[in-house]
Amino acid sequence: MKRYLSLTLLIAVVLVAGLHSLLSAASTVVREHPRLFFRSGAWDNGRGLTLAEIRSRYGREDASVVRGQLNGSLANDALRALILQAYPDSMQASVEAAQRAIAKLSQPIDCNNPTTTQGEVLGYYAMAYDWLHGHPSFNEASKKVARENIATAAQSLIRALGGGSHIFHTRMYGWATGVALAGLALAGEHPDADFFTEYGGDFYQERLFPARALQDGAVHNSFGYGRKYTMWLTGHFISCWHSATAENLWKTIDTEQGGWARKEMLFNIYGRYPDGTYLRFGDSYSLTSDFYTFRAVSERVAAYRDPVCQGFLQKLIEQNAGLVVEKPTAYVYFLNYDPELKSVPIGTLPTRKLFSRDGLGMAVWKSGWEDNGTTVFFKCGNYFGNHGHFDQGHVDIYRRAPLLIDSGHYLTFGGEFRTEYWHRTVAHNTILITDPALPREEGGQRVFSSQSDDTIGKYLANSQAETGDLLEYVERDWFSYAAGDFTAAYPAGRAESVTREVAFVDNRFVVVLDKVRTSRPELTARVLWHCSTFPQRAKEGRRFTVDRQGGRAVATVLLPDKAVVAWVDSFEVGGRKIQPAGKYAAVDGMGVGRFEITDEAPGTDHIFLTVIEVTDVPADPNAWDPPVGEVSVQIEGGAIRIQLDGREFRMRHTGIGLLH
Ligand SMILES: [Zn+2]
Repeated sequence: MKRYLSLTLLIAVVLVAGLHSLLSAASTVVREHPRLFFRSGAWDNGRGLTLAEIRSRYGREDASVVRGQLNGSLANDALRALILQAYPDSMQASVEAAQRAIAKLSQPIDCNNPTTTQGEVLGYYAMAYDWLHGHPSFNEASKKVARENIATAAQSLIRALGGGSHIFHTRMYGWATGVALAGLALAGEHPDADFFTEYGGDFYQERLFPARALQDGAVHNSFGYGRKYTMWLTGHFISCWHSATAENLWKTIDTEQGGWARKEMLFNIYGRYPDGTYLRFGDSYSLTSDFYTFRAVSERVAAYRDPVCQGFLQKLIEQNAGLVVEKPTAYVYFLNYDPELKSVPIGTLPTRKLFSRDGLGMAVWKSGWEDNGTTVFFKCGNYFGNHGHFDQGHVDIYRRAPLLIDSGHYLTFGGEFRTEYWHRTVAHNTILITDPALPREEGGQRVFSSQSDDTIGKYLANSQAETGDLLEYVERDWFSYAAGDFTAAYPAGRAESVTREVAFVDNRFVVVLDKVRTSRPELTARVLWHCSTFPQRAKEGRRFTVDRQGGRAVATVLLPDKAVVAWVDSFEVGGRKIQPAGKYAAVDGMGVGRFEITDEAPGTDHIFLTVIEVTDVPADPNAWDPPVGEVSVQIEGGAIRIQLDGREFRMRHTGIGLLH
C-alpha cells in the first residue's frame, strides 16, 4: 500500500476498508480471543502456541524465579490474569491482576511527539485487550473505552509514520508494531481495525523487512538499540501476525528473504563475549544486558525451534540464575521459552561468521567458544543513520576482556562527547586522514545525517550512505581473511583509495594491512589503535602490549619502514581534549588513549602493516614483554610475504587480495 496519509485521506480509506479487506490479509484475522501470540485451541496444525501450554509452563518448577516477576506491567498483569483465571483458588489473584490492567487500558496513550516507546505501549494495550477479552472483570463498557484508546493511538502513530520516516530508525519498528497489533486485536470489533492491520502489515512487509534483509541478521544501531527495539519489536509483529492470521512470515523470511530473522539469533550469539558483555559498535548504551538478548533470541527460538539457539538460551538462564527477563517484560519467558525443546551446546557452531556482506559488512571471528577465547571483529560497510557510528574499517580485539577497542561510552546523545568524539572515526581502530593546514580537525570519515530514507529503494539510491564495501572474504581452517574498501567514507579531497585487509591466523595472529592513497602528498594517513588499559611499549618503539584481566594483545608495526608510532591521550581530537562527560556515568574500560601510526616517507601512497598477537598474560608478572611469535615481512615481486611463527602467506602489494 502506498504511503498517503493526511488525516482526511485516512478517513477516506477507512470508509472503503470494508471492501478492501475482502482482498487483504486483514480479512483472515481470526475472530476468537486470545489471538496474539497464542490461541485457546490448537492451530497451525498443532504447532502453534496454546493457552494450555502457557499455563503448563507457568506451573513448572524451573519457572519459579520468573513466575514472581509476572506482574506490575500491563502485559504481565494481563497474562497473569489470563493464566490464573483457570484455577478457582487463584481467581482472586486473577481478578486483581485484571483490574490493574483494565485501569491502565482506560487511560489514553499520550501520542504527542511520540518516540519508539509509544508504539511499544500501544502493542501492550493491544495484547492486554486481547488476552483479557474473556475475563469476567473486563466488561463491555471497559472494553469500549480500551478500544477507543487503542484506535486513537493507532491513528496518531499512522500519522507519525506517514509524516516522514527512516526505515532503519527504531521508531518505525515501534510504531508499525503498535499499529499492526492494534488492528489484529480489534479485528471485528472496531471499524478501523482492518485498516490498522493492513497499514502495519504493509509497513513491515514493504519497508521494514527489506531493511532487515539488507542487514542480514546484524543491526547498525548497537547491541543496545538493536536488540531492545529493532529485533524484538520485529519479532513481536511477526509472531502476532502468525497467530492472528495464520500467515507464517517467520517461514517466508526463511524461504524467500535469505533467513535474516534466523541470523539475528546468531548475531546475538556471536556478538556476546564469554564474560557476558557484547561487541561494541554504534550507540551501545548497554553492553551487559542479557535481558535484551533473551527477548530477541527467545522469540526466534520459539519460531524456528533451533536446538543450538535453545542451547544458548539455556546458557543465558544458567548464567543469570534463572532471572533472564527484566520485570516489565517477564511475559516473554512464558510465551517464548519451551524448556522441553531439544538443545545442543553452542560450541557446535562454526567459529567464524560474516553478517550482512552487502550492508554492514561485519565479520566476527572467534578462536573458539571457550571462556578464555579470542574474538576479532571487523566492520566495513555502509552507514545506516540512527545510532550508527562513522567507523568503517574498525577492528576490535577481545580476549578475557576488551583489549583494542571502540573507545568511549554512551555518556550523552546530543552533547559534545558523542558528537565530537564517540560517534566519530577518531574513536575507532581505523584510519584518519588529516590535513596539516587544519590542525584542529579530526580527519575522519564524513559525518552526516541520514534520517529520511523511507523505502529501501530510497536508501539504496542515497549515495552519501555508501561508505564501504567488503570485497573479499575467505575462511580456511587456520586462516580467515576479509578485505574492505572504505574510500567512499572520506570527504571529497582526502582519499583516492583506502583499503584494509584483515586476517586471523592460527587463532593467534591478527594481521591488518592498510593501503592508503591520499588526495595530496601533504595529507597524513593515521592508523589508530585504541587501548582499553595503559599499554607497555618496547624500547624499539614499534611494538606495544595491552594487558587486561589476563588477556594480552602484542602489536608489532611491520610497515611502513619509516613508521612513527605516537601515543595520544584519551578523547583527544585535533589537539583538544573532549571531556568524557554527559548525562550518564562514565564506565571503566572506555579507553585510556591511542597509538597513531604514521609514515614519514613522502608521497601519497602509504602501506601500513600491523600484526597483533592475541594471547594470555604469562604466569610471570615481570615478563611484560616476553618473546612473542616470530613475525616478519618481505616485499618482493609484487607480493607482501608475511611470516608468522612458521606460517607463511602472501598478499598483493598493489590492490587487494591473497596470492597463492
Ligand atoms: Zn563506535
